[in-house]
Amino acid sequence: MFMRGRIRVPALLWGILIATHACSPFMLKSRFSGGPDRTAVRILIVKTRDNFTISSGAPLAVSSKNTQGAAPESGSTAIIFSPSRISAPLMVQPTDSPLLLNGLPYRGTMEIIGLNGTALVINVLHIHEYLVSVVPGEIPADWEEEALKAQAVAARTYTYYHLLAGRKNPQPYDLDATAQSQVYRGMNDEKPRTTEAVASTAGVVIVYDYQPIISYFHSTCGGRTTDDRYVWNQRDLPYLTGVRCGYCGESTKFLWEYILTLDEIREAVSKTYRAIGRIRNIAFRKKDDRVLEIVIHHNRGVTRISGNNFRLLFPPEKIRSLYFTSKQYNKGLILTGHGWGHGVGLCQWGARGMAQKGFTYREILKHYYSGVEIASVKDRYIASKLRQGGDYH
Ligand SMILES: [Zn+2]
Repeated sequence: MFMRGRIRVPALLWGILIATHACSPFMLKSRFSGGPDRTAVRILIVKTRDNFTISSGAPLAVSSKNTQGAAPESGSTAIIFSPSRISAPLMVQPTDSPLLLNGLPYRGTMEIIGLNGTALVINVLHIHEYLVSVVPGEIPADWEEEALKAQAVAARTYTYYHLLAGRKNPQPYDLDATAQSQVYRGMNDEKPRTTEAVASTAGVVIVYDYQPIISYFHSTCGGRTTDDRYVWNQRDLPYLTGVRCGYCGESTKFLWEYILTLDEIREAVSKTYRAIGRIRNIAFRKKDDRVLEIVIHHNRGVTRISGNNFRLLFPPEKIRSLYFTSKQYNKGLILTGHGWGHGVGLCQWGARGMAQKGFTYREILKHYYSGVEIASVKDRYIASKLRQGGDYH
């Protein structure tokens, strides 16, 4: 059944209200309520110019953030939003069943912001609720318990780090839901073993100088991790220092080979950088066996690209890491490499290898992050650092 204009919150804000009575199979509350991880985090889950639907198994409560007191629309269990018609920011809250965005269930509430015909849909939920979805998205839930805990603590720390950074540099959300930060797809990803790892490490974070670190992690280092400065050329954080791994040999991604033709290179580089001509020579400048810079000599001059930017010109399964050697052949390069990912911070397959050898999650984290402490967000000094710049609780 379709209804139009029966809502007391400004009707122009969205497209069509639909009343449905679908039942959600999900419970709103998990067994563990979050403990010290009940801090709210804001995750950008959709940025779109297309219509989208928010629904629930129970009536939705919708209000406008700018016009206090707007009444929730009772009885409506699904709304189609049109980005071009959203003006004031909106809040959508569940009543007795989780919200579904385009059919996928999410914990917490949704904020919707309209920007020149584009809608940002931001999921606001407790860090605990976020982590129980994020951790199994980043690591297989059937891995060893200490490896799951190490990943849970790394993901929690990464989240708190961005909460702190967000307060110094305000924006409408703290993290996005892609691999650029942490992959987040809502409740469908949740798995009991990773939920248990999140619950049993509640509030535990990795700190340096009493502050949560930016706890980068990657799939497989290939034998040795690397310094952040060799990958991103910006900062040189004391705890992101290359260390010998030696625990990720079991990884299915430990060794790789890819044949990269000169045509592929010319096409990929020309799309992002100044168009290059016929390639005469390619040289790789390296540090610790990883490629820092690629220097391409061609008939229009010389193009220099950082190793990381060069890798990201191609789909991730092509140049899987910067830890590779190359051999030239008449049509291009044969790359033989180690590992998958940027190689900075925690090596996930290494964490698994250490867990199999009996190391605890604390020992695993202290191996991959140099000079850090494993602490709780409830610690007095850490809590005071987390409060700097505003009240986030
Ligand atoms: Zn490794």
